[in-house]
Amino acid sequence: MQITLLGTGVPTPNPKRRGPAQLIKAGNVNILVDCGSGTVNQLVQGNVSPPQINNVLITHHHSDHYIDLDHFIITRWIMGADKPLHIYGPIRQKKIIENMLAVHEYDLKIRVEHQGTKRPLPEVIVHEIGEEIEMEIDGLKTRAFHVEHPPVDPAFGYRFDTQDRSIVISGDTRPCENIIKNAYNVDLLVHECMHSAKVPFVPGGGWKSAEHRIEAMARYHTFPEKLGLIAKDADPKILATTHMVSHSEPSELMEIIGHDYSGALVIGEDLMTI
Ligand SMILES: [Zn+2]
Ligand SMILES: [Zn+2]
Repeated sequence: MQITLLGTGVPTPNPKRRGPAQLIKAGNVNILVDCGSGTVNQLVQGNVSPPQINNVLITHHHSDHYIDLDHFIITRWIMGADKPLHIYGPIRQKKIIENMLAVHEYDLKIRVEHQGTKRPLPEVIVHEIGEEIEMEIDGLKTRAFHVEHPPVDPAFGYRFDTQDRSIVISGDTRPCENIIKNAYNVDLLVHECMHSAKVPFVPGGGWKSAEHRIEAMARYHTFPEKLGLIAKDADPKILATTHMVSHSEPSELMEIIGHDYSGALVIGEDLMTI
């Protein structure tokens, strides 16, 4: 099993770090986890064609994690996918997909009419994750678990297990016990890492002050100063960071996280495969 970090960025545009997205590959199974800005192009850069993916997992409903989903659904269909696409996500996932397809209703209709083949529209099967969180996706053992990202509720992390390998993706979360529990001794923990202190304060973004923004961020994200402690307790074989701001400096992150965590550490980069 391997993971490709397709996008290691945040909502703010950054050509070096595209929006959040990861591709899990286990044998013939490809699972896309989140579909942030630039995901479809990143897939192609990583030599994966959209029709090769039949399953998408969404961690939570912040738009930076799904803003490329309509691009993905329609492009996959234009490129000839004839299998249904399964999308798994928190409650409200059905409504989001319905609305997305409604936005593109005219486009889909004229494409079919133009081709004159009466081809069916993209078939999207949505699975809203409730408390039934153990899943088998094309035979791959997958578990959704709750993380803490208030006010977004619910927000999930995902764990994937094959016979000999395990990967956990944190999604967006503040430091939380459930990460430590679900990622304990995992082979690879891909964890968000928001170095909010590095982001210059811009008035007009909705926050009252720089202090107010940092305080609010700490309530729903994990700063590098806290990530070392999480990793120390979870003790993964490898920790990889994601969800990083443009101003994040890899050497600085290594140093801050390394203060509390002495295991293998990878500062994630777009298109890195582990
Ligand atoms: Zn979020
Ligand atoms: Zn996010």
